[in-house]
Amino acid sequence: MVNTMSKYTEQLKDVRWKEKSLLILKRDNYTCCRCRVSGVKFSVHHFLYFPNTKLWEYPNDLLITLCDECHSKEDWSDGFISGYITSITAIGRIYRSEMKLIGDLNG
Ligand SMILES: [Zn+2]
Repeated sequence: MVNTMSKYTEQLKDVRWKEKSLLILKRDNYTCCRCRVSGVKFSVHHFLYFPNTKLWEYPNDLLITLCDECHSKEDWSDGFISGYITSITAIGRIYRSEMKLIGDLNG
């Protein structure tokens, strides 16, 4: 059984994730989707996590650019994320079945 956390950090270093996150950063114009700050350090945030799915296998719709400050805030009670969640839940449902297929193939 592989430790989930070390698997996660390994994936963050993977070139496929680096390419994927660069794509998201470009799409979002290197601007935080929450506070609209630019010119800072960013993280690409996953709205949802699926089992047995590598970070770069997620559809772009489930990924957004956040500045490190927004990303580290667990309290997103201003409705920013819940608004997103509502709009992506349907997408999530569709992709979840596809992701499971990918997971099965990899597994
Ligand atoms: Zn921000």
